[in-house]
Amino acid sequence: MTLERPERLVIATHNRGKLKEIAALLEPLGIACVPAGDLGLAEPAETEATFAGNALLKARHAAEASGLPALSDDSGLCVEALSGAPGVHTADWAETGQGRDWQLAMQKVEDRLAALGPGVSRKAAFHCTLALAWPDGRHALFEGECPGVLVWPPRGDRGFGYDPMFVAEGESETFGEMDPARKHAISHRARAFARLVGAWGG
Ligand code: IMP
Repeated sequence: MTLERPERLVIATHNRGKLKEIAALLEPLGIACVPAGDLGLAEPAETEATFAGNALLKARHAAEASGLPALSDDSGLCVEALSGAPGVHTADWAETGQGRDWQLAMQKVEDRLAALGPGVSRKAAFHCTLALAWPDGRHALFEGECPGVLVWPPRGDRGFGYDPMFVAEGESETFGEMDPARKHAISHRARAFARLVGAWGG
């Protein structure tokens, strides 16, 4: 199935790190990105229990409010030894009451792993679900995963979120140390994007 490729897309995120990466991934396709914040759209509460549910909720909300096709990203870090946590709650682990603190969020992950003992598996994967929604109610979902391991202490100040503690399979640098072009080639978001671009006919 080939999906119609829009000329303009509302990007249904208020996360600046995600916005930057999504704009870089869409730029070569000649699609103009309109950040939801620039249209004054509010951010809906993420009330679903799955990445797909939350991605769809955000994309539908932006498409209905703007009258334009909208793309959202729901993503997170799933740690094997923590039964997939923080998962859909990845952003919540950074909440302080006065904004988000990623150092604190990474420390929480590390503390929970350390509490399980020295031999614990440090395997983790970043997951990304992209949802594309049209104002008439049509939608499509695309998934991407990037497996890897967690390192401590965190390394690097590039990227965002949990990037400084994640080393993708086959790499030696964390996502926080890596050249952004390299991250864009191998990340969970890039893999979900490759599927989206495939659905647009490449
Ligand atoms: P949400 O999709 O808005 O619920 O937020 C997902 C959270 O997962 C983000 O706020 C980041 O902390 C984290 N996350 C998602 N993708 C990445 C990534 O590429 N690098 C680092 N952290 C990420």
